[in-house]
Amino acid sequence: MVAGLAFIDGAMALENLLDRSLKILLSFAGLCLTGWAWVQFIRILSVAESISRQAVCAQCHRYGRIDVVDERSSEDLSMKVMTCKCKKCAHIWKINYTLQWRDARI
Ligand SMILES: [Zn+2]
Repeated sequence: MVAGLAFIDGAMALENLLDRSLKILLSFAGLCLTGWAWVQFIRILSVAESISRQAVCAQCHRYGRIDVVDERSSEDLSMKVMTCKCKKCAHIWKINYTLQWRDARI
């Protein structure tokens, strides 16, 4: 964002109106792209956190030592369901997650 603002500031020093407009437009497009990438990054982080909260074996309480046995979409395609197996005690359970914002928890 700071780079975008600096870019706009540099554009104001230009005398030619066409060059100035082009630089401002490119700065705005760059800021939009940066904002979109940031939102995608936060969405992926929220999905990863949601999965990590469910990666604890209910039987031996071991965290994160799992094998993914199967991964499917739910019947209404709104969720993904992973069947996991604990590497320590072979307990099997399901982890649910979604890539949609409405169910994502941060
Ligand atoms: Zn276990």
